[in-house]
Amino acid sequence: QKFVYDFTEGNKDLKDLLGGKGANLAEMTNLRLPVPPGFTITTEACKVYLATGEEPAALRDEVSAHLDALERHMGKRLGQADDPLLVSVRSGAKFSMPGMMDTVLNIGLSDESVAGLARQSGDERFAWDSYRRLIQMFGKTVLGVDGDLFEEELEAAKAAKRVTVDTDLDADDLKSLVKSFKEIVESRAGRDFPQDPREQMDLAVKAVFESWNGDRAKLYRRQERIPGDLGTAVNICSMVFGNLGPDSGTGVAFTRDPASGQQGVYGDYLQNAQGEDVVAGIRNTVPLADLERIDKTSYDRLMQIMETLENHYKDLCDIEFTIERGQLWMLQTRVGKRTAGAAFRIATQLVDQGLIDEAEALKRVTGAQLAQLMFPRFDERARGELLGRGIAASPGAAVGKAVFDSYTAVKWSRSGERVILIRRETNPDDLDGMIAAEGILTSRGGKTSHAAVVARGMGKTCVCGAEELDVDTKRRRMTVGTTVIEEGDLVSIDGSTGKVYLGEVPVVPSPVVEYFEGRMHAGAEDAGELVAAVHRIMAYADRVRRLRVRANADSAEDALRARRFGAQGIGLCRTEHMFLGERREMVERLILADTDEERTTALEQLLPLQKKDFIELFEAMDGLPVTVRLLDPPLHEFLPDITELSVRVALAESREDHNENDLRLLQAVHRLHEQNPMLGLRGVRLGLVIPGLFAMQVRAIAEATAARIDAKGDPRAEIMIPLVGTVQELEIVREEAERVIAEVEAATGAELRLALGTMIELPRAALTAGQIAEAAEFFSFGTNDLTQTVWGFSRDDVEASFFTAYLEKGIFGVSPFETIDRDGVGALVRSAVAAGRATRPDLKLGVCGEHGGDPESVHFFHEVGLDYVSCSPFRIPVARLEAARAVA
Ligand code: ADP
Ligand code: MG
Ligand code: MG
Repeated sequence: QKFVYDFTEGNKDLKDLLGGKGANLAEMTNLRLPVPPGFTITTEACKVYLATGEEPAALRDEVSAHLDALERHMGKRLGQADDPLLVSVRSGAKFSMPGMMDTVLNIGLSDESVAGLARQSGDERFAWDSYRRLIQMFGKTVLGVDGDLFEEELEAAKAAKRVTVDTDLDADDLKSLVKSFKEIVESRAGRDFPQDPREQMDLAVKAVFESWNGDRAKLYRRQERIPGDLGTAVNICSMVFGNLGPDSGTGVAFTRDPASGQQGVYGDYLQNAQGEDVVAGIRNTVPLADLERIDKTSYDRLMQIMETLENHYKDLCDIEFTIERGQLWMLQTRVGKRTAGAAFRIATQLVDQGLIDEAEALKRVTGAQLAQLMFPRFDERARGELLGRGIAASPGAAVGKAVFDSYTAVKWSRSGERVILIRRETNPDDLDGMIAAEGILTSRGGKTSHAAVVARGMGKTCVCGAEELDVDTKRRRMTVGTTVIEEGDLVSIDGSTGKVYLGEVPVVPSPVVEYFEGRMHAGAEDAGELVAAVHRIMAYADRVRRLRVRANADSAEDALRARRFGAQGIGLCRTEHMFLGERREMVERLILADTDEERTTALEQLLPLQKKDFIELFEAMDGLPVTVRLLDPPLHEFLPDITELSVRVALAESREDHNENDLRLLQAVHRLHEQNPMLGLRGVRLGLVIPGLFAMQVRAIAEATAARIDAKGDPRAEIMIPLVGTVQELEIVREEAERVIAEVEAATGAELRLALGTMIELPRAALTAGQIAEAAEFFSFGTNDLTQTVWGFSRDDVEASFFTAYLEKGIFGVSPFETIDRDGVGALVRSAVAAGRATRPDLKLGVCGEHGGDPESVHFFHEVGLDYVSCSPFRIPVARLEAARAVA
């Protein structure tokens, strides 16, 4: 087994073995781009080290051999006293990972060789600057010394000299800094800074290996579902110096604008600087375009290289480079991150350039990016006063009055105010306020903080960790610099950029939604490139996807909207809303009925109303399937609130004014009260214990279908029975339904062709799917309830109470209510699909939980062979796109 690869030996496809950085350094080397020579220690070596606590026996010799070769090539030895070869030791896993060890530059410098470097370069200041950087980086990342100690010392040195930037320190200043840095190391690390160059290198390599199991790295991996056993590679790269004076420097560049996708010159450059200086903001950088003026030769060469990289990687690349005395060196490249809008534009641009095909274009965008483009946004032309910037935790644009506690948020929103809930950080007590607010803003916490997690779950706009904001909840205000924002002042927050504004910034609908709604045409002048790109990508997607996409919609209005968004039917029409509003009284009468006669009367009143609803719905979805779910929720949801009712009854009694109906209602409320309503009398159980209820609903569907046929329509209703646990339940309901349908057919003379099927949302239903398929023509997986019952999680309770803790501890990367739990819930779905199809080969299969619109989950449903997913109208484009990406 080979543990070390020279940069000339690898290539970009060896990311597993060489890590992302190493694989791309090798690729650039092979493209004959100017990469400083070096070699990569493989992830395999790291794995052995992590498993045994020791480097593999062969590693030391292999590293020596590669180092020898490198030294011969460079004509100098590592740390050689009169002319030292210096190297950087750089970590680089397959996925770039925060929490991994930082890079150590200038390895090979010592008290002796620093003088050699000074003589060779003819620049004493440079040599000592490099040495102090080495001790600082090595001390911090390899020896674990608190980095602030070095920073403070550096600041003190600048202050003593009354200068503000590091370049104003001269060789003598840097010499004395080196002295104090070494003292810091000695006192804090309990050892001297190592003078032996090979020891420096070996210790740094080991530190990189060990950083794989650092706490932050581990947590990040668990949350991102990156396997813990991949290990990291280590790159040893000969140093080039951007800190050799004004004809040297270092920079970062993008081959296209990562914000818009436009081709051009994007990046930053800093003269006389090394490594992280550009991004660390220690001095002001200049735009990359200025490099043309500073060093035309290097600039032209860089432009040429960027073009080579784009054509080679066929994608936007980001780049790190250094110029040493007019000589350009490439230090890193990778396919770069980009904004959602840029992703769509770049994908179509690359198709037009002939660099990629349509199938590849689909891989270059994601449903999450599309979803982001569909949120309303702040009007770009309107300029608000920027207060600060936090983490873009949950997208959207929200405007409202500042409130600093949950109670006020609820109170104000009840009286019709829009509010933004502002807290230092949120906790479960803030939940009501978060629900009431338009958006949530916190000054602390990251992407996995309570505020961020809960807001994303609720689809609420959220900016968190805006540290410039000083939130004072006691005095109900926050201060930003000198600006004081009191309770009631208007603020605007942008959950897609993290920006926080004072005052009301006008919100405009997303052009992408305008396009889907049919209010904007892709070719129209004002539609812009983005809409044109989305239009094209959606066309590619619809050509290749196998999964059909339906909508969860309960009304004709929703159905029409869903159709505009591309729905191919309704996968879930909930009938409970048809029991609310003015119809509530009829439902109350149904529940209170003591005699068959009373019950029949109540049902007869509901029938024509339901029928009318269905006629409208079937008309809106004419020609496409509509799955109607019979009544599902527990009955108490249709009755008045127990407290309100008790008070009303008590008051009436004190006035000796008995209201017979209220009394009966109160009794019913008590009778129907359940400890665990979600596991109680609901779904098919209602149909079985309330005579005539399901029959009425089936009759309404059947008569509506007959009416639509009569009107020359093409209704395609499917009747769905919820919460079935055993085939016997289904058989009973089925017999009754068939009888009713036959009656309607006889009465109208129409052939109705109504399909009867069931939801699979209980573990028992999934486990006995083979039997249930005997009585069902279709299954629709109700993955919300299935997740609740498989995990034993009550969704309404657990998300607020302990999910944040679970997410923080990395037990889930994402809530199982958001993304299907493949291993648990998913396994049940998979086996139910197989068992169902074994019984009935033409069984139609779909899913109607929240997961139907979740990208990851859509891929899973494609894999297990469902026929369709159903999701809320707004998620349909996302599901269409992801269904196509699942094929690619
Ligand atoms: P990260 O993964 O954090 O980007 P890198 O390994 O890329 O870490 O290194 C950090 C900085 O040091 C980058 O700016 C990089 O360009 C620079 N750097 C790394 N190796 C060398 C080298 N051999 N010569 C000069 N600069 C280097
Ligand atoms: Mg880098
Ligand atoms: Mg359900």
